[in-house]
Amino acid sequence: LLMAYEPAKRLARMRISIEAGMVGVGMMYQILDTPIAVKEAPDASPLPKGPGQVAFRNVSFHYENGAPLLRHMDVIFEAGKSTALVGPSGGGKSTIINLILRLYDPVDGLIQIDGFDLRQATFASLRDRIAFVGQETFLFDGTLKQNIALGRENATDEEIIAATKAANAHDFIQRMPQQYDTDVGENGGNLSGGQRQRIAIARAILRDSPILIMDEATSALDSESEYLVNEALQKLSKGRTTIVIAHRLSTILSADKIVVVKEGEVVEEGSQSELLARDGLFRTLYDRQFSTAE
Ligand code: ADP
Ligand code: MG
Repeated sequence: LLMAYEPAKRLARMRISIEAGMVGVGMMYQILDTPIAVKEAPDASPLPKGPGQVAFRNVSFHYENGAPLLRHMDVIFEAGKSTALVGPSGGGKSTIINLILRLYDPVDGLIQIDGFDLRQATFASLRDRIAFVGQETFLFDGTLKQNIALGRENATDEEIIAATKAANAHDFIQRMPQQYDTDVGENGGNLSGGQRQRIAIARAILRDSPILIMDEATSALDSESEYLVNEALQKLSKGRTTIVIAHRLSTILSADKIVVVKEGEVVEEGSQSELLARDGLFRTLYDRQFSTAE
C-alpha cells in the first residue's frame, strides 16, 4: 500500500485531466491531500461492458492504523436497481463507497463489478463506469458550460442543455447574466449550494454511466433546493445501478432495496416493507425520523 501525501502532484495531475477532458471519479476524489492508497495493476485491463452489478465478497477493511471497520461484508448492489445505505454515523457507509471508487483496496476479500475484480481494472475504465455525486461538488473556475461539459468529452450543446434540464438547472442558468457562458467563480463561488449540486448532477447525467453513487448529495441543501435536486436524482437513477447514502427518508424510501450498516456490518437488508415488518434497526431509525421530522 503506497500512502504518500502528494497534494501538489495530484493538483497538477488534475489540471491535466481537466485539459484532457478525462474527468470522472478521479476528479471527484476532490480532496487533494488524501493519501493515494492504490495503484493501477501493471497488467490491468478495462472493465468489460456489463449491466453494472457491484458485489462485495467477504470484504474486510480498516484504514491505515485504524481499527477493523468492515467485517466480512457480503453485499450485492443489483444492476439497474437502486440501493440505499443507511445506518448510524461512523458505521462505514462512506467507506463502502470509497472502496467502490477504489480510493482504497479491501484488506481481505474482493469487490467486483460485473464479476470483474476492481484491482484488475484500469482506472480509466472504472471512471468511465461510475458517476459520483458527493456532498461537496467540484467546480473549477470556468463557465457553467465548461463545468458541465466535464462530464463528457465532445458533448454537443444540445446534449449539454438536455442534461442540464434534467438536472433542474437550465432555468436558473437562463437567468444568469451570461447564461451558459457565466463564470462560476472560484470553486463555484458565484452559485448557491443547491445550484452547484445541480451542476454536478448535470455533469453526471451527461456522463451517462451505468453506475451512479451518491453520498449525502442533498444534505447541505435547503428544502426547496433539496426538492429540485432530488427530483433530478430520481430521473438520473432510472435504469442505473444506484447506490445512495442519505439521511432523509424521502430519498431512502424511493430505493428498491435498503441495506442497513452498523459498525462495519450489514445488519439488515431488504425492501422497505420487509424491513419495517422486521422491527429492527431500520424500523427504529424510521420511527425516529417520522416523529421528529415533517
Ligand atoms: P459513515 O459514512 O457511515 O458515517 P464512515 O465510513 O465515514 O462512516 O466512517 C467509518 C469509520 O471510519 C469512522 O470511525 C471514521 O472515523 C473512520 N474513517 C473514515 N474515513 C477515514 C479515513 N480516511 N482515514 C481513517 N479513518 C477514517
Ligand atoms: Mg458518510
